[in-house]
Amino acid sequence: MSIRRLPEHLVNRIAAGEVVERPASALKEIVENSVDAGATRIAIRIANGGLDRIEVSDDGCGMDPADMALALERHATSKLPDDAIEQVATLGFRGEALPSIASVARLSIDSRPRGGEGWNRTIDNGVIVDEGPAALPPGTRVTVEQLFARVPARRKFLRSPKSEYAACLDVIRRLAMAHPGIAFSLEHDGRRSLSVQGNEAREERVAALTDRALADNHVIVSLEREGVRLSGVASLPTYHRGVGDHQFLFVNGRPVRDRLLIGALRGAYADVLARDRHPIVALFLDMPPLEVDVNVHPAKTEVRFRDPAMIRGMIVSGLRRALDEAGFRSVQRADPAALGAWRAEPVSPTPIGAMPIFEAAAVPYQPMAPSSHVPSYMSDRRTSFLTPPPQARGEPAAAPPPEGNSFPLGVARGQVARTYIVAEAEDGLVIVDQHAAHERLTLERMRRAMEGQGVQSQALLLPEVVELDEVACDRLEPRAAELKEFGLDIERFGPSAILVRAMPAMLGQSDVQGLIADLADDLAAYDSALSLKERLDLVAATMACHGSVRAGRVLSVAEMNALLREMEVTPRSGQCNHGRPTWVKLGHGDIEKLFGRK
Ligand code: ADP
Ligand code: MG
Repeated sequence: MSIRRLPEHLVNRIAAGEVVERPASALKEIVENSVDAGATRIAIRIANGGLDRIEVSDDGCGMDPADMALALERHATSKLPDDAIEQVATLGFRGEALPSIASVARLSIDSRPRGGEGWNRTIDNGVIVDEGPAALPPGTRVTVEQLFARVPARRKFLRSPKSEYAACLDVIRRLAMAHPGIAFSLEHDGRRSLSVQGNEAREERVAALTDRALADNHVIVSLEREGVRLSGVASLPTYHRGVGDHQFLFVNGRPVRDRLLIGALRGAYADVLARDRHPIVALFLDMPPLEVDVNVHPAKTEVRFRDPAMIRGMIVSGLRRALDEAGFRSVQRADPAALGAWRAEPVSPTPIGAMPIFEAAAVPYQPMAPSSHVPSYMSDRRTSFLTPPPQARGEPAAAPPPEGNSFPLGVARGQVARTYIVAEAEDGLVIVDQHAAHERLTLERMRRAMEGQGVQSQALLLPEVVELDEVACDRLEPRAAELKEFGLDIERFGPSAILVRAMPAMLGQSDVQGLIADLADDLAAYDSALSLKERLDLVAATMACHGSVRAGRVLSVAEMNALLREMEVTPRSGQCNHGRPTWVKLGHGDIEKLFGRK
């Protein structure tokens, strides 16, 4: 057997396997080239998820015919002037993207340098098929058609046009976020799905690409340490999502995915955000090229930091400092010895009938009507604890507790910080987290209803239109029948909206928009990973959270007592849906210990 050099077209195909896995990866390479070419406007049009066609036009520096010929040769690049691969400042540097794409698709490049003429070169699966003058304004237009049409082994691994499109959108969103100076537009099958103007401030750009409301709910992060600069935008702890899909990290202008970010965010938000909620964050690290190796992954989406611990530390302190300045100081911790005396005590549920029962189904708690700017799911109990001024109310302390106080959770004596119910039991003092407790009760009610007749639904006076992105609508639409079992009646309303006709009756006047957005988030995060039963439970939990009496709501003493009585007869009511305790009790003996009487 003799050794031979592989012919050029085979080498290209092998490289294509690494660089161009799917339409989104081809698109990423082409748009990165436009950024490197100094473009101020980049217009992208794709058809059928990019499988049929990808077209990228820019107003960058362009290429003359000789450069164009070189650009299509493997390892030809204009971007490594002095061979210093470890100092690379441009997005591209390997010079293999264009030849790789050309080897597995029909690639056509039109380009015109400033002050020069336009030229075209078309290559079909590695073979030049056309070349000649072309008419276009200064800049470059790259068109890729029929990607992998002649490489069936590759085509087999592609997903549906919809998910390929979602991947393309993600690529453009990240690149547009990294380059707020450049105008981007994306059209899919003739419909515009993304458009941002050039010269935007970074926080405007991030808000435009994630969530418009971020514009009023963010802090600016800025920190410099040992030659590394951290800057960016992060959401306030009161503004968060059900999934961590809006968390972006950029290193020297390059979108990267790094596990380090997730841990650092947890650390930074630990005291101010519930564990199951996620901030929106776009962070930009700028550092000398020697501090980071970008050449560890063919698609350049992963990097290796020289000092990862330092970078993680910087992210945590940068975020904490920004949140502190915005007034979100981490919660003061009480003395651990005193806290240790407070313990959660399981109440074994008493059989229904043996206790005075609050008529749960007949008098549901009506959550506060949602205020226009804060969806109810943002009223996390821990964050809202920080915002309202401290206040307590209840029966005058002089009044003796009512007769026959044998309830395990006691009799309500007042409310603290509009969030906690303070009750007096025969054997001690009970504090209940009203939101966590009620959320649990609603979930259990919902489960009972699902085991029986299904959840009663209540038609909305006016059906409500909820605007979501197309991918989220695509996820919700096939679940309409399942959701109907929960009393939620939805239908598709055009490409990027859902029409809500009815809501589960037990949720009262919930925030429809917030509920639908959270359900879509749930499906995005867990859909394929869960069995039907698990998925139903997740839906129930999300709904329960929306139907629950919120932290921050003033409760009457009668309402408080009703909540306590219902907790006593509901299984699992000692823990909220996220595993945190819903109440704690300090026994008389413990109180004496606290005051040194024992
Ligand atoms: P790399 O980006 O790693 O250099 P590519 O194969 O992506 O490799 O591109 C090869 C070369 O083609 C680039 O170095 C650049 O000189 C030229 N080029 C590609 N796209 C453009 C564009 N849109 N405008 C100007 N020049 C371009
Ligand atoms: Mg490139």
